[in-house]
Amino acid sequence: MGFYKTEAVVLRNRDFREADQLVTLFSLDYGKIKAVARGARKPKSRLRGGIQAFTWNDLMLHTGRNLDIITGCDIRRSFYFREDLDKLTNALYWADLLERILPEREANPALYALFINFLQVLDSLPDNPKMTDDYRVLSHLFELKLANLAGYRPDLNQCGYCQKPLTPAKGRVWFSLGLGGVVCPVCVQAPEAGFLPLSLGTLKIMQYWLGMPVQQFYRLKVTKSNRQELKRILPAFLEYYLEQGISSGKLVRDLGDNLP
Ligand SMILES: [Zn+2]
Repeated sequence: MGFYKTEAVVLRNRDFREADQLVTLFSLDYGKIKAVARGARKPKSRLRGGIQAFTWNDLMLHTGRNLDIITGCDIRRSFYFREDLDKLTNALYWADLLERILPEREANPALYALFINFLQVLDSLPDNPKMTDDYRVLSHLFELKLANLAGYRPDLNQCGYCQKPLTPAKGRVWFSLGLGGVVCPVCVQAPEAGFLPLSLGTLKIMQYWLGMPVQQFYRLKVTKSNRQELKRILPAFLEYYLEQGISSGKLVRDLGDNLP
């Protein structure tokens, strides 16, 4: 391919060889790319600013034998979350999920646009320790929308067994990790492995979320018990589809667990 251009957000960077950095990018045109920024650890490198995590760039690259080479960057916006540990933890978690879920070199423009939207919304929230619950809700919204756009849209409208539309007036239903959606209380009457209880209130939130623009997330009231259910269901749902045991994923999860 030789030289090529694309816009991209940096998911992660790490030291590589003597003065280089290895950068994982989520690009608009080619999906996930791993590329080398040569000499980027030198103080005067022109690439230095553009390859920091969560920087949104127009990039110039060159095809390499194994890894592509970043030859130039033009920063659109740097999302800089280092002053707020809560924000940083959430952004790292999203980047980690994306890194794990995105196949190499497969464009997903809708998911790309979604990720930028989430970074913008996160950046616009006030830096305030009292916002922790809102950040959590935002991350659950990200999990659901990511699942949807990555090809794992959960079926939230009809029972995965009897296929009947889900219209219970009260009580709760079940979320099946294996079926990737809801199951009615007639088909499952008692807890079984892989079935998580789901209240109708939380189900309604999930149904609404699938069609809701990210910017409106704070308009919908999410109670503590809704949050607890979302926390039990959505990460488990994603994990079900992801390979286990990747250390960076575990690190971010542990970091998240340690927050109040
Ligand atoms: Zn059923």
